[in-house]
Amino acid sequence: MTESKAVYIPPCKHPRIVIIGAGFAGIHLAKALKNKPFQIVLIDKNNFHQFQPLLYQVATSGLEPDSIVFPIRKIFRNYKHFVFRMTDVLSINSKNKNITTDIGIINYDHLVLASGSTNNFYGLKDVESNSIGLKTIQESLDIRSNILQNIEKANQSDDDATRRLHTSIVIIGAGPAGVETAGAFAEFKKFIYPKDYPELRNFPLQIHVIEAGKRVLSAMSEKSSKDSLNDLEKMQVHVHLDTAIKSYDGKTVELSSGETILSSNLIWTAGVKGQFPEGIDAKNITPSNRIEVDLFNKVKGHDSIFAIGDVAAMQTEDYPRGHPMVAPTAIQQGQHLAKNLQLEEANWKPFNYLDKGSLATIGKRKAVADFGKLHFRGKFAWFIWSTVHLISISGFKNKLRVGLNWVNNYVSYDKGNRLIIRKYKPKS
Ligand SMILES: Cc1cc2nc3c(=O)[nH]c(=O)nc-3n(C[C@H](O)[C@H](O)[C@H](O)COP(=O)(O)OP(=O)(O)OC[C@H]3O[C@@H](n4cnc5c(N)ncnc54)[C@H](O)[C@@H]3O)c2cc1C
Repeated sequence: MTESKAVYIPPCKHPRIVIIGAGFAGIHLAKALKNKPFQIVLIDKNNFHQFQPLLYQVATSGLEPDSIVFPIRKIFRNYKHFVFRMTDVLSINSKNKNITTDIGIINYDHLVLASGSTNNFYGLKDVESNSIGLKTIQESLDIRSNILQNIEKANQSDDDATRRLHTSIVIIGAGPAGVETAGAFAEFKKFIYPKDYPELRNFPLQIHVIEAGKRVLSAMSEKSSKDSLNDLEKMQVHVHLDTAIKSYDGKTVELSSGETILSSNLIWTAGVKGQFPEGIDAKNITPSNRIEVDLFNKVKGHDSIFAIGDVAAMQTEDYPRGHPMVAPTAIQQGQHLAKNLQLEEANWKPFNYLDKGSLATIGKRKAVADFGKLHFRGKFAWFIWSTVHLISISGFKNKLRVGLNWVNNYVSYDKGNRLIIRKYKPKS
């Protein structure tokens, strides 16, 4: 329900910065403005910050959800003139300098859109209705429940076709999320499935990755693509390159090659688009639904509105379609905007992205890493991947939980979290 009354925000003598979104961009902006002469109003529809790079581990039973989400209020304990409101922002009124949320109206002096991105199904309505994306903690739990429920159905059936339908997993997209998910399911298939489901010994999990492009991990080096494809194939993942999904009705995946795959488990990782509330001029929105910003992250045509992270498209010579939609972009833009907001506008500095390299893991001791022209694979890349992710997770307890889980998985080859916490009900 939309309320038209003002949301209570304690009075404050400082100018108010309203930040929509407590993802990497919003959190790092708010942290960098700690106790500065601004009132910070941080808004998110959830009361937690989620670490999206490890969503696939929740989906594949490697981690519990609470290991990769962190309470927003805990991050900002002891911050002065800081307010958090859990609400969904519905629209922006730039003329009146306020936003409408589902609990009422909030005024701003500066507004920062850090609302991230959502699944982009490129208009494939049937795929959208019948698949599950991998963008939120709720979706990763849905993927886990759906697959575990379907394997139970296969176990309960004496019909071969039903067993095959439920034991086939199709992942659309071979970017880092798709490759990492496929690798984790391949380990599940090898080390857990035969022990947990001995009645299905004649129906091994079939794992397919469908990629419209010519290589997996296309944003990484050719070497990384080749090495990861090699690893996936060794792990018995069927990778279909140069192939797009045409339709999916919940059972049959129809591919551009003319091939069909029967599966009740379709995971969508093939694309994202910016998400933000209504009220931004359509001419400032790119085809991937990101908001065009200038070199200071200011939304074109709006004086007091900024966009940072996935939702922002800053077109530069090096990045003509905007910076990569990854955590370092979001973090760096949040921190950079915090510096500019403390200066007179005439002294603002343009944003410069520092590319720290790319990493992806395919499984235990299998990863690829690109740092400029340097390329690593195998154990060393896997060690870097694990260390970088452990350092980046919010909260000591979460780092410890994730670290212990990984050690346990490493030693025992077991994924202890194959639990159906809440049952998944298919959307259609
Ligand atoms: C599966 C997966 C794996 C990934 N792996 C990697 C990786 O290995 N390395 C890497 O660098 N990047 C990775 N990324 C990308 C990275 O997570 C994103 O680039 C990053 O999260 C973007 O940060 P952000 O702050 O812009 O948006 P987000 O982190 O998406 O945060 C946006 C926030 O805004 C909130 N919000 C949105 N709309 C509203 C609204 N209307 N009202 C209130 N709140 C709202 C959301 O609840 C959310 O908390 C991965 C992403 C996914 C999905």
